Formats: sequence, structure tokens, C-alpha cells
Amino acid sequence: MQYDVVIGLEVHAELNTASKVFCSCKNEYSKEPNSNCCPVCVGLPGALPVLNKKAVESTIRAGLALGFEINNTAIFERKNYFYPDLSKAYQISQLEKPICINGHLRVFDKDIPINRIHLEEDAGKLIHEGSKTLIDYNRGGVPLIELVTDALKEPHIETADEAIEFLTKLRQVYIYAGVADCEIEKGQMRADVNISLKPKGSDKFGTKVEMKNLMGFKSIHKAIEYEIERQKEILDDGGVIEQETRKWDFEKGESYTLRNKENAEDYRYFPDPDLLAVNITEADIARIRETLPLTPSQIKDKYMNEFGLSEYDADVILADKNVADFYDECLDIYMQPKSVANWFTTEILARIKGGSAIEVSKENLCWIIKAVDDKKLQRVPAKDLLSEIWGTDLVAEDLAKSKGIMSDLSDDFVFGIVDKIIAEKSDVVAQYKDTQDPKILNFLVGQVMKETRGKANAADVMDRIKDKLK
Ligand code: ADP
Ligand code: MG
Ligand code: ZN
Repeated sequence: MQYDVVIGLEVHAELNTASKVFCSCKNEYSKEPNSNCCPVCVGLPGALPVLNKKAVESTIRAGLALGFEINNTAIFERKNYFYPDLSKAYQISQLEKPICINGHLRVFDKDIPINRIHLEEDAGKLIHEGSKTLIDYNRGGVPLIELVTDALKEPHIETADEAIEFLTKLRQVYIYAGVADCEIEKGQMRADVNISLKPKGSDKFGTKVEMKNLMGFKSIHKAIEYEIERQKEILDDGGVIEQETRKWDFEKGESYTLRNKENAEDYRYFPDPDLLAVNITEADIARIRETLPLTPSQIKDKYMNEFGLSEYDADVILADKNVADFYDECLDIYMQPKSVANWFTTEILARIKGGSAIEVSKENLCWIIKAVDDKKLQRVPAKDLLSEIWGTDLVAEDLAKSKGIMSDLSDDFVFGIVDKIIAEKSDVVAQYKDTQDPKILNFLVGQVMKETRGKANAADVMDRIKDKLK
């Protein structure tokens, strides 16, 4: 049978505020277990939470960047459950009145509706050592924003590729808005994936299965494809899907039942009596909106429509905010967006693959790019020059001059060499006149370049040779 796949995502991201969400402990990763907590974030009886306003602001920023409506009143509720990493046996979260409602994110050509973003606290971490389990509460009380897509509205996410694109785009939006660093390896962004299948074209939704706490885009992709196949097989055999929560086993590449799915009622949510409702005025929202930088999609528009970059180049530069920021800084020095973009998508990206830093100053890089554009430096020696100064304190201009690679050749001199080569290689020239084989042309250009030690402008040499052999 053919099925429609329905996917809903619940995405958690750690905010990068200076302190935790309900106490003044530092919001930072610390190696020494239980070194960064206080009575509030470990939940000792009688300790009172105090809301970190910066965390609310960051949540609003995230919401505005995704076109959400902001609730003027937001409420914190207790979500009650027991687990050893949650010492007070409830998590402060939001149910009825989250900070942000009704947003969307464009994924390929679908505008995916998003229900909500709410603010909550993270729990501690369990560390399993042999037969013992240890608890580190350092992460307890770290501010988390949870975003929930609306899988029951059109259009929804239908494939693993779309889910990954959604997460990739979302991560970019958060990073560009400055609210979260979303380093996947550090667990700063995690997703729960809800999946159901229904017969193709049916308007009745199937039973959903939730896969919890997936990390890393590759395993999320795998886990989704695995779950779609698992449900297909059950349905094809005439079975029924159990509503449940499954856990993905990274190593085995398969999932297993964690528990039968609980409902919201099981958590006995109620407003936290220790925290007042949060008032968010229109003036607050307007003030935050004013400080919001461009979103990745707005920057992409600018790159394509104002700068004339191709969609590919724009995407490649935007994929890493450090790269995009550096690109913009270079344009402050040398406002040639296309020419600078060319160097970024080739030379710069090749050198920072795998996460290395950009180790050239904007001044040096722009000097090289401009020298090539002005035909004072040829491409090949220019690339070598970039390699030589990369990661050093060398100054591009000084090094280029001392190496004697600047093109100080007059046209007459270069054309003289063209004539000389044409005379010397008369047999090849005759062959070219017969066949018009472009390879021969390239060979002749190569000969001239060799003779000028790479200093001539290859395009000009090519034109001159063509002209001569017409
Ligand atoms: P729960 O209370 O079980 O967490 P929610 O209503 O919060 O359920 O939904 C969690 C996510 O699952 C949301 O993204 C929602 O859109 C999605 N979802 C709900 N029903 C389905 C379904 N039948 N198939 C796929 N996803 C669904
Ligand atoms: Mg849920
Ligand atoms: Zn604390």
C-alpha cells in the first residue's frame, strides 16, 4: 500500500544567556560535576525561582525571527514527573500560555507551520559508569526553548530530507538571531521526532510514534527512515501502530520501545505558584524587534538581489555565520560582492573545511582579490600567495613584491612573446588552423605563461593568440 508520511518535530535549543533561567548560576558547560548549581537549580525545598528576563527576551527574539505572534501574558507551569536527573520532581515549563505562538519556517518550497515556542528549564545529566549511575546537575536550570511544529496542518514535513532541512534552517535562524549557539556535539540542539503514516490521500491521521532526544543530523535522518519503514511493514501486514515513545540506538542503527506514550494529563500541569505571569507589552516587543539583525533568508535575498550572487553561492556563504560575517567585513573594504564571493566559495571554504578557523586577515585577502581583479596578479600565483600567508603574520602585498610575482609586464612585452611562441611552434599552429582544437590553443597559452613565469594575463594571451591565428 502507498502511505502519506506525517512528521512533527519538537526541537529543544539551549539559550546562550549568561546565567540560568531561574537562578544566577552561570549558564556554561563545566567539567567538574555539580560545581555549577545552587539550591534553586537542584530544587531544594523552599528555594525560590527568579525568572531571568534575558531568557524571556531571547525567546521573543527567536519567535520574532520566525514570524511568531508574541503572547502579552505568558505563564510558567509545573510539569510533574519523576526522574533522577530532575531532583524537584517537576520541570518548570509552559503549556497553556507559551511566549510565542503561530510561526512558520520555509523549507524547500513549503512554509511549515509551527505551533509554539516555549521557555523551560533543562534537567541534569545521568552518567552511567559500569553498574553505577551518577548524576551531574550542572545542566539543570539551563534555559531551553522548545519549538513544536504543527504536523496536523498543511503543509507538514513528510520526509527525512525535509526534517533535516527544517533543523538546518532553524539552527541558522537561532544562530543569526544570536539566541543560541546550537552546537550539536555539545547537545545544545536536540529533537524529538513524531511520525505517523496514513493511507495515501486519507484525511484521517494515523497513530504517532515519538522518538526522543535525537542528536546529530545524520542519526536523525537514519532514525526517521527506519521508523517510516517499521510502520510500513506493520501496516502492510495488517497490524496496528501502538502509540509509544521509542529510543534510537545510535550504534545498532535501530530503535526500541522506551515506554507507552504518556499524555499531557499525566503530567498534571499547573501554574507554578512561585512565579508570576510574565507581562510582555507591545513596547517590549517593538524594542526587541528593533534590535533584531537580518534573518538568514533576508540576507540571502540581499545577496541574490542586491549583490547578484547565485543561489548556490549565497547558500554556501550563509551556511556558516562566521563565514558570512567575514564576507560582509571584506565587502566593507572591497565592495565587489561577486568577485569576493568567488574567492569565498572556492579558496576560503576549501581551507576551513572540517571546522578550521579563517586564518587570513580581511585586509590581506581583499588586497589579493583586488590585485587579481586589477590584473596586477595572476590567479595561480595569487592562490599560492594566499596559501603562503594563511595562518601567518605575513603581509600579502610585501610578500608578493619580494617574490617578484606582480605582473609588471607591458602588453608589448607579452605580445612579443606570443609572436615568438607562434613562430617556434609552427607545426602545432598549423595543426590548430586545421582542427580548431581548443586543446592546442590552451597549449599555446600555457607556453606563453611559462615563458612569462605566470605573470601574463592568461585571458589576454588567449585573445591575442586567437586574433593572430584567425
Ligand atoms: P504530545 O502531547 O504527545 O507531545 P503534541 O500534541 O505535543 O503531542 O504533539 C507533538 C508533535 O507531534 C507535534 O509536532 C505534533 O504536530 C505532532 N503530531 C501530532 N499528531 C501527529 C500525528 N498523528 N502524526 C505525526 N505527528 C503528529
Ligand atoms: Mg510534546
Ligand atoms: Zn542555580
